[in-house]
Amino acid sequence: MTASDAVPTSCVSFDPQDDSLAGRGDDALPAGTVAAASVPDAADRLDARTLAALATRIKAWGRELGFGAIGISDTDLSAAEAALAAWLEAGCHGEMDYMAKHGMKRARPAELVAGTLRVITARMAYLPASTIAGGSHESTPSDSGPGDWRARERSRLADPMAAVVSVYARGRDYHKVMRQRLQQLAERIERDIGPYGHRVFTDSAPVLEVELAQKGNIGWRGKHTLLIERDAGSFFFLGEIYVDIALPIDAPVSADALGKTHAGDGAAIDADDVIDSNPEGAISRARFDGQLDAGVGTGSVAKGGEEGNANAGANAKAAVRPVARQAGAHCGHCTRCIDACPTGAIVGPFRVDARRCVSYLTIELKGSIPEALRPLIGNRVYGCDDCQLVCPWNKFAQAAPVGDFDARHGLDRSTLVDLFAWSAEEFDARMQGSAIRRIGYECWLRNLAVGLGNALRADAGAALAKPDRERIVDALRGRADDASPLVREHVQWALQATSLCAVDEQRKAGSDDEGRSN
Ligand code: SF4
Ligand code: SF4
Repeated sequence: MTASDAVPTSCVSFDPQDDSLAGRGDDALPAGTVAAASVPDAADRLDARTLAALATRIKAWGRELGFGAIGISDTDLSAAEAALAAWLEAGCHGEMDYMAKHGMKRARPAELVAGTLRVITARMAYLPASTIAGGSHESTPSDSGPGDWRARERSRLADPMAAVVSVYARGRDYHKVMRQRLQQLAERIERDIGPYGHRVFTDSAPVLEVELAQKGNIGWRGKHTLLIERDAGSFFFLGEIYVDIALPIDAPVSADALGKTHAGDGAAIDADDVIDSNPEGAISRARFDGQLDAGVGTGSVAKGGEEGNANAGANAKAAVRPVARQAGAHCGHCTRCIDACPTGAIVGPFRVDARRCVSYLTIELKGSIPEALRPLIGNRVYGCDDCQLVCPWNKFAQAAPVGDFDARHGLDRSTLVDLFAWSAEEFDARMQGSAIRRIGYECWLRNLAVGLGNALRADAGAALAKPDRERIVDALRGRADDASPLVREHVQWALQATSLCAVDEQRKAGSDDEGRSN
């Protein structure tokens, strides 16, 4: 979710792509500017040719480490500041006070880490190969059968008994995996050029990372505010290395190049070309590949008139004018993510109101979940993937290069009742090394209670078998006197739904009697 046109900053990604949301963790920064282990003359030792060769090697090392792409950008995010300020001013960050606390440091890398000249942004796919194949590594792929993995994810959302955990959180904590590999990349650079100032970010720091990634030309911000790339979808993590060396930036393509491409084609590829109703090959693979070959894939604009692309036409007419990757560059007329959001959190293209987002409500929010939003959360117990699942570009989502993100403890196929039965000790033991552990046992139970309450509400439409309903009610009653007031309150809310079930049963019984008397 993110762009240099001051757009997206207003939005937040509740996806791991956006570190700033996590806002807590090993990288937490003090309020002041941080020195990047600065080596004042690092840049002076490297001439332009050496830096260009280094940038090429950094990308190769990045690929060796499993990163799908590496982008290098400068630190000028001034165009994003107004939208960021407006987003904060509107209170869209909810209780994430750290976001307001850091203020414009998010948009000013050199104020966050003194001496920063460039930001190296790395992208790593996290979709487990086993998820694509149809089963967790702990089960056999045939458990779910082959087919469209996104359809399988959606079918779990429709199963009231299922506990749905966001794909990124089912395996090992991504912060650790990303940080370790980014650190390796930073050290590899140091072995090549000697000491230099740098700092690695994979979480907590106020980094406007989707903006930086877009500036580094490794994707564009979709209307849901996450970063998307045409050959990788959006199921990936982002991490950054702030450096004090003047690496050549990944320059946007020239308008000249764009003009030539458009002359032969008439329009850039957008989501309209890859909607799911089209056969996979109907994306006009030749156009797709041709544009990538022509260099548009590293910085194109979409058809004119789309949000965030108002300058597309003017850019195409300019003689030789750099064109940065823009928000919504390949969204076209698509609004699927906005339409699919269960809570209406995407309040407009490139703007997410965190206070309504399921990821915020189930992860960031520490207290009571607003009652009006609880029914909309459904069975999502940690995060939400809905806006990504419907995005046509995720037809091209890539499998993770590492096994770390494979689902553990059956988190890709658990039921609400089973997870609700975990003791605090079991939660701690099983969530060791998982991002989920960060929310704590109390919020975990809170989220599950909401899911169980929603299952009972769904039962008012006769969605559950009687034994399942009884298991849910028993599980909730078993925690009605929980030591935590937060858990008790959510359990009571969930149990209120039993009266709905009772009314429904009476109605059904009544209609059965009526049928018999007729
Ligand atoms: S679909 Fe909506 S609620 Fe879910 S992550 Fe996206 S913005 Fe948040
Ligand atoms: S679902 Fe459509 S509008 Fe939303 S990010 Fe994907 S392509 Fe863009």
